[in-house]
Amino acid sequence: MRRGAITRESVLKALAEHDELGRAAFLSSYGFGEARSYVLVHEGQEYDSKAVAGVAHKWTQGRALTPDEFSGGKDHAAAWLKRAGFQVKVIRNPDWARDEIILACHLVMTNGWRGLDAQDSRVVELSTLLQLLPIHAEAERNEKFRNPNGVARKTFDIATRHPEYQGRPTKGGALDVAVLHEFLARPEEMSEAAQLIRQGIATGELQSLLPTDEEEFDDDYSAPEGRLLMRRHRARERNKGLRRKKIDSVLQRGGRLACEACDFAFEQVYGDRGAGYIECHHVVPLHEAGEGRTRLSDLALICANCHRMIHRQAPWPTPAELRTIVELRRQKGSRGAEGIMKQRDVVGGMVPQPSGS
Ligand SMILES: [Zn+2]
Ligand SMILES: [Zn+2]
Repeated sequence: MRRGAITRESVLKALAEHDELGRAAFLSSYGFGEARSYVLVHEGQEYDSKAVAGVAHKWTQGRALTPDEFSGGKDHAAAWLKRAGFQVKVIRNPDWARDEIILACHLVMTNGWRGLDAQDSRVVELSTLLQLLPIHAEAERNEKFRNPNGVARKTFDIATRHPEYQGRPTKGGALDVAVLHEFLARPEEMSEAAQLIRQGIATGELQSLLPTDEEEFDDDYSAPEGRLLMRRHRARERNKGLRRKKIDSVLQRGGRLACEACDFAFEQVYGDRGAGYIECHHVVPLHEAGEGRTRLSDLALICANCHRMIHRQAPWPTPAELRTIVELRRQKGSRGAEGIMKQRDVVGGMVPQPSGS
């Protein structure tokens, strides 16, 4: 069955069934819960959008979708209902992303780790800035998105989690606490990160970058500095011209295109298909990589696996640090498997690679 192929008529039938059964019975008979983020608005009434979208499938596809077959959000239910011509309203704004908390935390820090009121001009300014960040799509926001009241509340959520705060903390989330601790452990670096996010928004650079794969696979855990600076990091690494220049400079000096961490060489393993291929990792820490040109010495040659492992968890190891990990494990492995390995050719000799200039 094709998910999402629902029509206006089928949605109207689901709404009619909803009205006939009553909300509670409608939800329970199809196994849905109450809507938390989106509602469908029809003739002045609000409906649980995910449940309605799922049940509408009964008439176009023969059976209702179960809750675990799709999401209620912009990728599924909300999008399908809009496409069928219905109004979908966001009832709950998206959770704060790490980047947003970094900016709020920086403000709280500059205010001596005290919360700020909604009338404070710095809160009003931050509210405007947060609305410009290219993180949450317009379709996910309602009219209260990051308004001064919400921003002020967040500053108290952060301030009341400070270890020296006397009294009960306000709600807040785990991410608030995590970012607060990053700030306490590395105040200069995190402040730099906040400044870079501000600058990047002011120049428009951050708004022009696409989301990275990591955002889909690993949330934004891989970068304590947030996903926007991560996007910039990736964009610099993927810059074709720069990578070309880096590769040329290595080849000109007689080096080979092998991973600086594990020695993997694409051509050696994949033949012609891998010839001339290698990724680049930008070795300057995110909070230092401000404006200015990327130098070839800022780029390390790295295979796709090692690159993913570097970015997987903060703090990121340098290629040399990752190399130490890989070599130690290889030594252990080869000791354990001596008998088996004797006859085999070990892939990739340990030739140290020049790091470029
Ligand atoms: Zn590698
Ligand atoms: Zn990288």
